[in-house]
Amino acid sequence: MQGNYTPTIVTLGLAGGQGKSTVALMLGRYLGRLGIPVLFIDADPQSSLTSFLGVKVQPNTPTLLEVITQSEEKTPLINAIAPVPDVQLDNRTISNTNLFLIPSDDGLENANYKLASSGISLFLLRNRLRQIANNFGVIIVDPPPERSHLAQTSLGAGDKWIIPAEANVKGVQSLVRTLELVKEFQPALPYGSLLGVIPFRAKWTGVNPTKATKTSISAMGEIVGLDLMLPHFLESDVYKNAINQRVSPTDLGQPSLEYPIQVLAQKVGPTLPEQY
Ligand code: ATP
Repeated sequence: MQGNYTPTIVTLGLAGGQGKSTVALMLGRYLGRLGIPVLFIDADPQSSLTSFLGVKVQPNTPTLLEVITQSEEKTPLINAIAPVPDVQLDNRTISNTNLFLIPSDDGLENANYKLASSGISLFLLRNRLRQIANNFGVIIVDPPPERSHLAQTSLGAGDKWIIPAEANVKGVQSLVRTLELVKEFQPALPYGSLLGVIPFRAKWTGVNPTKATKTSISAMGEIVGLDLMLPHFLESDVYKNAINQRVSPTDLGQPSLEYPIQVLAQKVGPTLPEQY
């Protein structure tokens, strides 16, 4: 059964390089290609998602910083939403007409002070997004990889949380710490739930996973339960090239690499508003 409101999906991870921005980006691009209007929120001052999407922050245009620190009267949220530019690939135009972004830059770090003093930081982003949510089929938030107030307000904005974790020891540790964060705040967020865990950059030699990949993915399964384990992202330069060229693996002739995104999108599908 489909929902009647726009879900917010948040990629979570308490270590750098776990694949949060990649999963957010690839999921959004995939859903956009299906005709679903997607609003990305770059909640990380490192602003990887903003640069992956090719959005340039203009000096006098509001970013997520103003959305969080200023009132709707002072900065209407709509003014912070940037269209994602189309991309030229060889002789083709890759259309991004369904993709939008509230961008960030390193100044977003300052939002932590406002959030720390607001008293409702867990719900601030969720409340702010509510008024424009109906214009989109899905909202995808990419938070910073630490226990900051920005990470907390991102967590609180989410209806569904996805945890990407590198297929190695560091990834397992990041998963454990991220689950602790979720457990700590879950009682205050009864509307949120974990959609799944995605092992990131799984390494294979020939037809077999490496020992580190196999061991870490099975440890993740024991920690969260097999029902929540989603297909892994393979370690591959194709993803990196796709990110750098601002397209999808499918646009580079490698649709099979999008299998984990396809499965993720199928899990997201039932939560989308019914017109999608
Ligand atoms: P941070 O929180 O530090 O910004 P992150 O969790 O958002 O990191 P990503 O930026 O998504 O992690 O990914 C880390 C790096 O992995 C990026 O440089 C990206 O280009 C690269 N990458 C993405 N997908 C793959 C892949 N399948 N194989 C190899 N490298 C990849």
